[in-house]
Amino acid sequence: MTDRVLVAGAGPVGLTMAMELARYGVPVRVIDKIAGPSDTSRAVAIWPRTLELLDRSGVAGDLVKAGNHVVAANIFSGNSRVGQIKLDGITSPFPFALMAPQYETEGVLRRHLKAHGIEPQFSTELADIAQDKDGVTATLRAGDGTETAERFDWLVACDGSHSVVRHRLGLEFEGDTLGLDWTQGDFHLTGMPIPSSELAIFWHPEGALMFFPMAADRYRIITSLGPSSDVEPVPLDLDAFQKVIDRRGPGGITLTDTVWTSAFRINERQVGSYRSGRIFLAGDAAHVHSPAGGQGMNTGMQDAINLAWKLALVARGISAAPVLLDSYDAERRPVGAEVIQESGRLTKAATLENHALQDVRNFVAHLVLGLAPAQHAIAGMITEVAIGYPQSPLNGPSDGGTAAAVGARVPPAVDEAPYGGADSPRFSLHGTGEGAASLLSQFPALLEPQLRAAKAAGRLTLVRPDGYLAMSAPTEDWQAVANYLAGYAAPTGIAPPPA
Ligand SMILES: Cc1cc2nc3c(=O)[nH]c(=O)nc-3n(C[C@H](O)[C@H](O)[C@H](O)COP(=O)(O)OP(=O)(O)OC[C@H]3O[C@@H](n4cnc5c(N)ncnc54)[C@H](O)[C@@H]3O)c2cc1C
Repeated sequence: MTDRVLVAGAGPVGLTMAMELARYGVPVRVIDKIAGPSDTSRAVAIWPRTLELLDRSGVAGDLVKAGNHVVAANIFSGNSRVGQIKLDGITSPFPFALMAPQYETEGVLRRHLKAHGIEPQFSTELADIAQDKDGVTATLRAGDGTETAERFDWLVACDGSHSVVRHRLGLEFEGDTLGLDWTQGDFHLTGMPIPSSELAIFWHPEGALMFFPMAADRYRIITSLGPSSDVEPVPLDLDAFQKVIDRRGPGGITLTDTVWTSAFRINERQVGSYRSGRIFLAGDAAHVHSPAGGQGMNTGMQDAINLAWKLALVARGISAAPVLLDSYDAERRPVGAEVIQESGRLTKAATLENHALQDVRNFVAHLVLGLAPAQHAIAGMITEVAIGYPQSPLNGPSDGGTAAAVGARVPPAVDEAPYGGADSPRFSLHGTGEGAASLLSQFPALLEPQLRAAKAAGRLTLVRPDGYLAMSAPTEDWQAVANYLAGYAAPTGIAPPPA
């Protein structure tokens, strides 16, 4: 066995997983049953928190060059604006949403993966799995039908919503299919009255219409078709889309060319556990939800980033603490559940059928979006910078002496190296003093070699490789940080970090 981890699926989540593991020095193989890279547009939005996390590997810089920057989201009813959510008010090196076709995002990820010497192995299907206490046996089926059984230490299932791994494990994909049909497409157009730096949602009495600007003249357009029937939904063609836009949109828009179309029903489903022994599920294999809000791909990529540094610490023998791998499900499943709930709410609001309720919705939304605290909360949710792990078993002690609570995102500073950005997943320690310096020499495998500038006078602040607050303590209480890190240090690592 040469590769320690098998990643099944080379979509955006599998590629993110493989790239993170590869840059952290873990031998990894990523396979996909399709013959070559996908060329479909699919998910278009990459939110600021995902960009922050992809900045740790250098991917964000290339993505940012490949997409359109969106700084506000508008909701309209006819020609009157119900409200606007400003995305550029958040504290982030990336105060905008990036709009790019999914094949571009995957292309950038593949290039970075290749820079670490790894390329996806296409035409290779994961046909079956078996696991025991020491590893996973994967049956791999090549394009010509030949099968081989290979051993890996761990398997990460990034094999999408129809995940064969989930089926083989017998895990339920609990949830519902909503009763509305939808269609979407990428079109070239003229006459859009809203700047291409802003996305627009139209709440029309007949249904929703959304415009995501991918370039000044290219938009992702999504619209509801009506109640589902026994017949699978089919995408509208350009003429039919144009008619819907004329009825539901602001007027004056002309579609000139179709790039891609599809039709879909919304599934809201989540698996009951993201881990089964040595097998982890990430991305659409673990959760699917409404594309309203565009959080699906982002949530999956953040699953991968959450798991990768933990798996790398364990795979490289730096830590043997079981709590590390256990925390993946504990942290990411609640995030997935919240995304399902919030995107479902957005979809229901956009597709209300009762006209009186539509008026109430418009009035309440106008009122709420005019309030600064509501703006802040909604922008935090959409941009995903509000995601945190307040109940994480990895959270260490805090006496409340820092602005952020344990488990919360620590906003990356523009003038500092990103957290977790090097070739080994290390925690970052902010602070000063002899105690802090001695921690660096006690825990060289777990801590970055240099102290970072103190976040608050007289305090030590320990930040995880994925940029969430692990713990904080007064400078003189550096032993508390030592106790926390000792919980992870191999080979003692059975004990969880102190509560
Ligand atoms: C038509 C369509 C439109 C979409 N539009 C949007 C949108 O507008 N906004 C949005 O946010 N999201 C959208 N999505 C969802 C978004 O594309 C997914 O959330 C995202 O791709 C999830 O990434 P993933 O890597 O988890 O799964 P996928 O992208 O599905 O990748 C899974 C990969 O695993 C491979 N695979 C499957 N089984 C096996 C196996 N047994 N062995 C080997 N390989 C296997 C597949 O070939 C595939 O390449 C859309 C999806 C579809 C299908």
